[in-house]
Amino acid sequence: VGHPLLFFNSIDSTNIRAKLEAEQGAESGLLVVADQQTAGRGRRGRGWESPSGSNIYYTLMLKPDFNADCAPMLTLVMALAVAKGIRQTLGRGSEEGAAKVGIKWPNDIVVDGKKVCGILTEMSMERAYIHHIVIGVGINVRRQEFPEEIRDRAAAIEEQCGFRISRSQLIADIMEAFEEDYEIFLQTHDLKGLRDSYAKLLVNRDREVCVLDPKGEFRGTARGINDQGELLVERQDGSIEEVYAGEVSVRGV
Ligand code: ATP
Repeated sequence: VGHPLLFFNSIDSTNIRAKLEAEQGAESGLLVVADQQTAGRGRRGRGWESPSGSNIYYTLMLKPDFNADCAPMLTLVMALAVAKGIRQTLGRGSEEGAAKVGIKWPNDIVVDGKKVCGILTEMSMERAYIHHIVIGVGINVRRQEFPEEIRDRAAAIEEQCGFRISRSQLIADIMEAFEEDYEIFLQTHDLKGLRDSYAKLLVNRDREVCVLDPKGEFRGTARGINDQGELLVERQDGSIEEVYAGEVSVRGV
């Protein structure tokens, strides 16, 4: 993965560009990287703040031959790779640095509880088959002014570690981690081989969470994920609820 690599100083969205390239015949593994996005997007039609000079924005495009049901799990494979890459980077400074990095299920990476990365996975079908999948990642690297509404929740990695981070090195570390974990994913087409390492980095593991489901809301204790990447939430009566990422939002309480 990561070949070829297209770099743009400024682009509307790396996901949009990667999809266009995929439709025009680009091969699986293409990586689109930009220094700025003018229309960066998050899940559920939300935006992703993407100023220039500070951050990492990239999209990995894959043309896999597995079933469409597998696609959402790639978000978790990428989340794990990003978390490992950032841990490795912060770990160069100190052990404690690495220990601050965690995953907020399903797709956010946090450092010291603040969101430093978001991931948006999109899939395009051709009849019953996947034509391509794009996994878009935005990582806040340098200190910056965030808009008022996200100031409390967002942070940049450098603010948390106090030393300069090489963006190209971080992308390379993440791609290396992704490649390794993607191989493991492809052996079973699920997260069986990765769920333990994912659970270890899960910030809300063994903590009380509130699940906001379109059908209602409930509280429980997050225990990890299952082979499909659903969050396992233990209710007060000890029963385990399997929460699917598509429909819900999970908040710490
Ligand atoms: P969350 O669970 O944090 O509400 P989400 O998982 O539903 O987010 P994402 O696609 O991960 O959605 O992120 C989009 C949201 O992240 C935006 O609605 C905004 O609140 C916040 N956001 C936007 N840009 C940034 C950024 N550069 N850094 C951190 N957070 C951001």
